[in-house]
Amino acid sequence: SSFDEIDLLESMNKNISRCKYEKPTPIQRHAIPIALAGRDLMACAQTGSGKTAAFCLPIICGILRNGVSNGKKPASRIACPTALVLSPTRELSCQIHDEAKKFAYQTGIKIGVAYGGAPFGLQVRNLERGVDVLVATPGRLVDMVERERVSLRMIKYLAIDEADRMLDMGFEPQIRQIVEQMDMPPAGARQTLLFSATFPNDIQMLASDFLSNYIFLTV
Ligand code: AMP
Repeated sequence: SSFDEIDLLESMNKNISRCKYEKPTPIQRHAIPIALAGRDLMACAQTGSGKTAAFCLPIICGILRNGVSNGKKPASRIACPTALVLSPTRELSCQIHDEAKKFAYQTGIKIGVAYGGAPFGLQVRNLERGVDVLVATPGRLVDMVERERVSLRMIKYLAIDEADRMLDMGFEPQIRQIVEQMDMPPAGARQTLLFSATFPNDIQMLASDFLSNYIFLTV
């Protein structure tokens, strides 16, 4: 099988080729069509499975198809991303940010990043230039929301990566606080993609609380 068999946009197939990805990994082959169809997804996938592209590609494709352009420099100084990717660590957030930027190359979609342990002001100034897809760790994001530098009211796509690791790190209250923000009016329907290496009870709870009518995928 090849990426051509998946209904992504031509601009994205070009970027996938630039990344030298020749064929989709199993998680990509199964998850991308489900996500493109607008369904919520709970996927069990390990690091190295290609899960980053499995959620980044359909999100970027979805934003492009809907012609959403909140990524343009906002009139206010509050960043209003259309998509949010939550990840447990600075390292993982940076990896996702780098990969997402390659997929979004020359599409006009702006990818931003926010993580703890680095200057707040510098990250805020980057986000003020406009961001469609924000990749963030939960603690720093809560901080930015509370300080009114980021609004989650326009979020249409949420991906949660390495959910089990985030719960192990004690991020459940922050994750719930973030999702509550997105559930408040005027927020509309949101698509949620939950990724975890394992599927213990607490992750099943998150899935039933955050996802609606979801597809369960394990590779
Ligand atoms: P991930 O599981 O998302 O951390 O990806 C693991 C590694 O595989 C990363 O270095 C990706 O750049 C790479 N990768 C992801 N998808 C593919 C693919 N379809 N073909 C080749 N390499 C890939």
